[in-house]
Amino acid sequence: MRDTRLIVVLAAFCATLCAQGAKRPVLQFRIEGRHTESDEAWAKTFGMFKECPELCDEIWFGTGFSMPTLEKHREYAARIGRASKDVASLGWKSGLQIQATVGHGGPFCAGYDYSGRNWTGWTGSTGVEDKYCSCPRDPRFLAYMRAVVRIYAANHPASVWIDDDLRIDNHYPASRGSLDGCWCKTCIAEFNAETSGKWTRETLAAAARKNATCAVWREIRREPVTLSIHRADGICRVEVPSIGIWNGGFLEFQRRE
Ligand SMILES: [Zn+2]
Repeated sequence: MRDTRLIVVLAAFCATLCAQGAKRPVLQFRIEGRHTESDEAWAKTFGMFKECPELCDEIWFGTGFSMPTLEKHREYAARIGRASKDVASLGWKSGLQIQATVGHGGPFCAGYDYSGRNWTGWTGSTGVEDKYCSCPRDPRFLAYMRAVVRIYAANHPASVWIDDDLRIDNHYPASRGSLDGCWCKTCIAEFNAETSGKWTRETLAAAARKNATCAVWREIRREPVTLSIHRADGICRVEVPSIGIWNGGFLEFQRRE
């Protein structure tokens, strides 16, 4: 019912844009596994789409937050392939959203199917491992992702969107109090191979923290929060937590000792 209301609202939005003479933007509509998980679920979803043929130009089929066996991915990709033919009958394209690569983080992912995993989780400089996230250098993880992408590529999606879990921070709980990046044994070994070093996770983390600059967000009546500084293309960036419009705060840059 909620889905039906949302589609009606979006269709009305599109109609309003067109009525105002605005050039119609390309509209993509994302659906997830629950919309295609059975013939019944897809019939219900597609039934709503058929009632609003002006709703969008493309459907994004999400691959889900799970890391299931490749066999399950094959079954799901086949289901998407069949649904894509229905979508094409409305004149719409079918795109793909790869919803899980490195992983979104423990609390977010708990409850999903991770039966396809056999690799090391994302590991913080503190040594905490997030078993729902993945070490981006682990050859087993990379082999799995290559196989997954090949499976879905067979559907020839019109576009591909890679979700924001492909990032070097925010893989809670491993990232809590950690320096950016994965600090597992594989990553430390590769760093040592590239630098001819003999670092351990502990000694490298201590050296990285020494004299490093950190940013502390100090919000009125709140505990200070240490923020990661992202450096790219000569620009330093920090993400300030959201605050209420009634409050204020400031950034303090400190030297770590
Ligand atoms: Zn790693």
